[in-house]
Amino acid sequence: MKAASHQLFYITVMLAVIKIMGLSPSKELAFAAVAGLVGSTLPDIDIKFSGLSRTLGHRGIVHTVWVPSGVVISYFLLQTHRLLDLSALFFAVGWLTHLIADSITPQGIRPFYPLYSGKIVPRGFGIFQTGSFYETLFQFINALIIAIITAGG
Ligand SMILES: [Zn+2]
Repeated sequence: MKAASHQLFYITVMLAVIKIMGLSPSKELAFAAVAGLVGSTLPDIDIKFSGLSRTLGHRGIVHTVWVPSGVVISYFLLQTHRLLDLSALFFAVGWLTHLIADSITPQGIRPFYPLYSGKIVPRGFGIFQTGSFYETLFQFINALIIAIITAGG
């Protein structure tokens, strides 16, 4: 999926998480929201830099659950400062939304590589080919949900 699709999906999930957790606007929340946006975009670093792509392969180790899991485990172990804690949590949420969005493309991802090398594509969801009509529809649906959530106050 394109970066814009990942970012829109992350914003949708982030707004839902903020609502569910009942978080109030704050400097920490704003910083965390941006950290999550970075997390939602960063996994595709393996296609942005050709050296990394050759070493890691696209949708290789950075498209697994290990990076966000490490961040969440660090969050629970360290719990140092609200700004860092919230940012780590949102960064992991962003990374996970990237993995979820890529898992509904025909290429899928191998989220538990190297422990389990199988791809996980939810049944019937492998239609969201990058650049296709369905990806545009995915973006539109996310934008609509964002509008509904933000209009609700
Ligand atoms: Zn990706």
